[in-house]
Amino acid sequence: MRNASVWQQVLGITRVVIEAIWFDEDADAVVVSVRPRKGAGRRCGRCGRRASWYDRGEGRRRWRALDLGTVRVRLEADAPRVNCPTHGPTVVQVPWARHGAGHTRAFDDTVAWLAVHCSKTAVGELMRVAWRTVGSIVTRVLADIDATVDRFDGLARIGIDEISYKRGHRYLTVVVDHDRRRLVWAAPGRDAATLGGFFDRLGPERCALITQVSADGAEWIARAVQAHCPQAVLCADPFHVVAWATDAMDQVRRQAHNDARGAIVVRSTASSGPRSARPPRAYPLKRVRYALWKNPENLTDHQHAKLDWVAKTHPGVWRAYLLKEGLRTVFVLKGDAGKEALDRWIAWARRSRLPAFVDLQRRVVKYRAQIEAALDSGLSNALIESTNTKIRLLTRVAFGFTNTDALIALAMLTLGGHPPVLPGR
Ligand SMILES: [Zn+2]
Repeated sequence: MRNASVWQQVLGITRVVIEAIWFDEDADAVVVSVRPRKGAGRRCGRCGRRASWYDRGEGRRRWRALDLGTVRVRLEADAPRVNCPTHGPTVVQVPWARHGAGHTRAFDDTVAWLAVHCSKTAVGELMRVAWRTVGSIVTRVLADIDATVDRFDGLARIGIDEISYKRGHRYLTVVVDHDRRRLVWAAPGRDAATLGGFFDRLGPERCALITQVSADGAEWIARAVQAHCPQAVLCADPFHVVAWATDAMDQVRRQAHNDARGAIVVRSTASSGPRSARPPRAYPLKRVRYALWKNPENLTDHQHAKLDWVAKTHPGVWRAYLLKEGLRTVFVLKGDAGKEALDRWIAWARRSRLPAFVDLQRRVVKYRAQIEAALDSGLSNALIESTNTKIRLLTRVAFGFTNTDALIALAMLTLGGHPPVLPGR
């Protein structure tokens, strides 16, 4: 082949001999026949160690390569097996593709990069691959990156969280590095044994270097942390504590909504008047939800007006709102000022005559030591919140995978601090 070196450049493959190139009508693709250079030596596809010839394997194989413009390209080569001392008969290592892959390395890397940066539909249509295939590819690319980086190096302040998916039927336990704002580990399940898997991989020496662990107050997390990192300070994750208060406020709002609606129904039955005579007063409570959930600094003028309306018409809901905001302020203040505010908040919630907040106040008292540790820790709430939010956003895309390994791989590639790199960059 006279233009072999040009073709090598175009295809982005090195260390190979191009034997022939033709257009295969049936496959609707340019097929490039290749073989490793003479004297390249045979290596095990799994571990890369030199190994002796075993047999021809399944003969010729094809790998999908990056398209050339609008034309599809496939590499074709022999795929003999070697006899690896560790892995036994294994398909030989090839320079252009990862072991067990039906796509070239450059194709894999491009798909992984796109999966991190684009929508599911964009990746699938541009690369003409099924989402399931994207799943296998991101898993392979992550394995390659993980072989070269140590995510656990220098871990000191970590956060542990559980994330539900499949409409709350399945869970992932995730660990984030607060100092580097990265996801460092994720595994299916939510119990002490699952989390134990993380600490086992971290090893006792590095467990001893963990100084702070933020978590949502789950018993099993506390147990696992106590067992593996007894020196670490367990902090309540402000993000979750505020979420407890938001839930309590929602209970109060729903109750008020139902009470008001019940009152209307009773009144309208009693008067047996026409339906249109119903006072519409109760229904707006549903429409103020977003205004109540949002942080006040992000409210629009219209939402401010809605809150004013709540304050004037539903004193119970308004009190619940102020209590929620009060607990959020505790974490904004931090340190001793935060602790003082927490004392006042507990007393206030206890006397609030709102059962949801009286209960919440008990829970807060129960986790007081962890909440105070969070106020002392200097861990920024914004940091914890942004990591949590990012993971939740990502899960909407990644959870399209039915395969958990693929889901975790995409999460790690996106949030793990070592993103996939486009070929040739
Ligand atoms: Zn091997």
